[in-house]
Amino acid sequence: MSILVINCGSSSVKYKLFEVPSFRLVTKGLIEKIGESNSACRSHYQAVLSVFSRIKSCGIDIKDISGIGHRVVHGGEKFKKPTLITSKVIKEIRKYSRLAPLHNPVNLAGILASRKVLSKVRQVAVFDTAFHQTIPKYAYIYGLPFEFYSKFKIRRYGFHGTSHQYVASRASAMLKKPLSRLKLITVHLGNGCSIAAVDRGRCIETSMGFTPLEGLIMGTRCGDIDPAVVFYMINRLGLSPSKIEDILNTKSGLLGISGLSNDIRMIKRAGSKRSLRARLCLDMFVYRIKKYIAAYAGILNEVQAVIFTAGIGENNPDIIKRITKDLGRFLKRKPRILTIPTDEELMIARLTCGKL
Ligand code: ADP
Repeated sequence: MSILVINCGSSSVKYKLFEVPSFRLVTKGLIEKIGESNSACRSHYQAVLSVFSRIKSCGIDIKDISGIGHRVVHGGEKFKKPTLITSKVIKEIRKYSRLAPLHNPVNLAGILASRKVLSKVRQVAVFDTAFHQTIPKYAYIYGLPFEFYSKFKIRRYGFHGTSHQYVASRASAMLKKPLSRLKLITVHLGNGCSIAAVDRGRCIETSMGFTPLEGLIMGTRCGDIDPAVVFYMINRLGLSPSKIEDILNTKSGLLGISGLSNDIRMIKRAGSKRSLRARLCLDMFVYRIKKYIAAYAGILNEVQAVIFTAGIGENNPDIIKRITKDLGRFLKRKPRILTIPTDEELMIARLTCGKL
């Protein structure tokens, strides 16, 4: 028997097929550039249909698939756990497309295509926001008039939840201590970057907010800025809201500051050749993460481990060293620094098999 995991991104579909109960990886793949003129796949729906053809072409009988796990970006306040997909759940996920317009619709397309091919197989939605649903109210509500929360559900949701949850559980195995006895800070540094405070297995704070724009400096997203900057851009610089949205999401962060790239490898190379903007960019990236770690250490009181993951977190020991070198100064006991490769698909496969 096997479990298929489908992870639809805004222009790609990743999939992994695991044998159960061993969770051995059987096959995996990636379909990119969906919808672009030179792509074979015009839509996510079509791309997911072709995932099943690819699996069949590996000589695997798709009748052996006993469950399908889908990554769904936004589960709002409704979904706190992995959820068996029914028509009612599909309606709810569609409702949250308002909050994640680039992601929930493509996640849904993946679900619908999978239901078309394997209508009888158990399908489970695993939400990026779910792990953060334990964050207390005083931490997730913004300092706006309360109706913006009560009527419009504007609040911190947090993202990358499956990755934070996975590396926290791996850290518990590596430290040989149950999660219930650990206070951890998990730092996901990929193209998107976020950080979470995990108190005895429960997330109590995270840096991404209403959208994935808040918090750390990222590949192309700005992270925290004064919201009044946006009004200045509109009123004084004459920029339109959609132009500003594009600047904050796709032209800022490492790319915008360095003027070179969103790839940290290129920025480090330029920094070593004395590019001042590249150096500033690395200083800012490191500083923002240090600031968040210190804040989270403050709310956790003690920290047994700080865990780094994703493309930047897993491959740049020099950056990790710069971030963590002063940690021992303000914590009674210096935490362990761990680098743990993330595997959101494996976590989704495990959650798909679990009791719901
Ligand atoms: P995504 O969030 O798109 O899944 P990744 O987790 O793959 O992104 O992280 C992408 C970033 O990780 C790249 O922009 C690059 O800066 C960094 N990265 C990836 N591989 C390496 C590597 N081998 N060495 C250094 N940095 C890397």
